[in-house]
Amino acid sequence: MGANRAIWAAVAAASLVLAACGQGGGKVTGERIAAADSKAGEWVTHGRTYSEQRFSPLDKINAGNVQQLGLAWSFDLPENRGIEATPLVADGVMYTTSAWSVVRAFDARNGKLLWEHDPKVPRATGVKACCDSVNRGVALWGNKVYYGTLDGRLEALDAKTGKVVWSKVTVDQSKPYTITGAPRVVKGKVLIGNGGAELGVRGYLSAYDAETGDMAWRFYTVPGEKETDGAASDKAMKDVARKTWNGEFWKIGGGGTVWDSMAYDPELDLLYIGVGNGSPWNRDIRSPGGGDNLFLSSIVALKPETGEYVWHYQTTPGESWDYTATQHIVLADLTIEGQPRKVLMQAPKNGFFYVLDRANGKLISAEKYVAGVNWATHIDKATGRPVEAPGARYEKTAHLSNPGPLGAHNWHPMAFSPKTGLVYIPANEIPFPYMQPGGDVTSFKYRSKGWNVGIDFLVAGLPDDEAQLKAIRASLKGRLVAWDPITQKEKWSVEYDGPWNGGLMATAGGLVFQGSATGEFAAFDAGTGKKLWGFDAQTGVIAPSMTYEIDGEQYIALMAGYGGGFAVSAGAGVDPRSEGPRRLLVFKLGGKQQLPARPVSTREFPDLPTTPGTPQQIAMGTAAYAANCGVCHGASGVSNFSIPDLRYSPATTDKAVFKSIVIDGDRQEQGMVSFKELVSEEEAESIRQYLLDLARRQKARTDASKAGTKTG
Ligand code: CA
Repeated sequence: MGANRAIWAAVAAASLVLAACGQGGGKVTGERIAAADSKAGEWVTHGRTYSEQRFSPLDKINAGNVQQLGLAWSFDLPENRGIEATPLVADGVMYTTSAWSVVRAFDARNGKLLWEHDPKVPRATGVKACCDSVNRGVALWGNKVYYGTLDGRLEALDAKTGKVVWSKVTVDQSKPYTITGAPRVVKGKVLIGNGGAELGVRGYLSAYDAETGDMAWRFYTVPGEKETDGAASDKAMKDVARKTWNGEFWKIGGGGTVWDSMAYDPELDLLYIGVGNGSPWNRDIRSPGGGDNLFLSSIVALKPETGEYVWHYQTTPGESWDYTATQHIVLADLTIEGQPRKVLMQAPKNGFFYVLDRANGKLISAEKYVAGVNWATHIDKATGRPVEAPGARYEKTAHLSNPGPLGAHNWHPMAFSPKTGLVYIPANEIPFPYMQPGGDVTSFKYRSKGWNVGIDFLVAGLPDDEAQLKAIRASLKGRLVAWDPITQKEKWSVEYDGPWNGGLMATAGGLVFQGSATGEFAAFDAGTGKKLWGFDAQTGVIAPSMTYEIDGEQYIALMAGYGGGFAVSAGAGVDPRSEGPRRLLVFKLGGKQQLPARPVSTREFPDLPTTPGTPQQIAMGTAAYAANCGVCHGASGVSNFSIPDLRYSPATTDKAVFKSIVIDGDRQEQGMVSFKELVSEEEAESIRQYLLDLARRQKARTDASKAGTKTG
């Protein structure tokens, strides 16, 4: 680590000289972002344009020549976590982020590192992150680069040097807030939200002056304990939101975090934000007696200069399933029934594809974009509200819902091609059994650490039986869906070998690009879905790609590295993916660079004690692990290895060492904080015995398969 640091410092120092010799250039302004299509070679804001279509007018790489696409350059990322960022390119410089909110700038032609900025996020912050220590990218404005840190800071960096110009703490750091989303900048205001609704927080969006870092306004998405906050949202809370809540909802925060999507229409001068799920998920606990609980799971339109509320559309009234409306928002102009319409499109977690009139928030149409959506039968066109299926709220008995909390579509961006008129959706089918905690809501207890979602996670664990595991895997699906937003019908789709694949980009070259969870980065014909090109990224891909052009050469860039919510929690156990290197990969026609050979994983079991725990210990450990450990270390002890897989950990072989970690917090600096407020010493020991039991079973399977290979 020390040697790495020294190398980074030397590279960064050398890059300052380069930077002073004419890298960088014109300022990024609102006009420049609004006119992005006339400067097609750049990608200056998260979704390329304020409309967030993720469509590039570049066509030098196209359906006729994409087979010649090859690696131009790559950069190895030392951060061994999920990689979700979209790089931005302006004036020949690429700016991107990695896990733990590390920012880097490169010469976009050749990958030369110009500078690196590590905000040194305390690793213990990872415990507050529901879904891995990811970051989805930067914003550019003037001569500065803006980004959020996992521990809740918004920072402005000098675009030429990477030096901090200003830094603001945007959250109460004593609470479980995190920032993973990319800021946007509208009219000189840097817009940033936050996450944390699984753990229990109150959501909001803040606007900061791009030059000074002074806060301009804040819009809370759910009411608080007090009638007013002295915030831009006060009037909307009073007039619209507060009356849709019951009980003491503020105690756990209410939720409604604005953790990812935003879009802006300069003509209407409206900023659109996507609002997240409730804290806790379970409405019976959050707001006893019901209520729509605005603005949870809503798209809200605001005036960007003041944060003034204009309209909202709630996709999931009375949210009770983690059905966020934070998914990617795309603006487009469509002709529907002969009329030109300014629309806003979203495929939120709940499985319905919405087309709204973005001037007033009125529903134009909504249909299911994946099969098997069973929480609601349809959206009532007259009211704009879903018609829920009986039992979907799991009041009395568990309900196996599709989608589950990971959504029919999660954060992975979609794309819209004005050429094909299709929206490309990275869709999932990941069912989930919702059930009341301990069978009824009164047994819910707030926890100072970890998740507070108010439902029980399955504690039974994964089966040892390979056939049963296979059946579970088969129920998880991932699809690239090409959706016609006018007819609300699928045009074509590509089925993957599992969910949680990468975000999307469409180009005027007639191509759609997507990486897969199994590590293939591919180009598809935008009109037919035929696969035209593929590249082995050596690691699962979750991020979307982007494209740019310099000196007449078109490049495609992709941040590769598996991780994120599904990967660290539920997914690993049933759907283990490659643990390959994290890299920034950049392609061009005729690119000839080769990646080094894929590293071979060497994983050994520690010497496992032979005396098993008692059945009572294993049972207690199973429940305690599911309640406290599984969301990071993986369901049933199977992790994706960026967070330690405890079946292979020597720490489990020693009672005192295990206790020192779990109870005393001996590995706080690596991110493993003390759980003594939640886990007794007896429970810690039972978790250890449970993990040893899992390790013995896994070792037996590994040994059997080795023996089978030798004899077979
Ligand atoms: Ca959530």
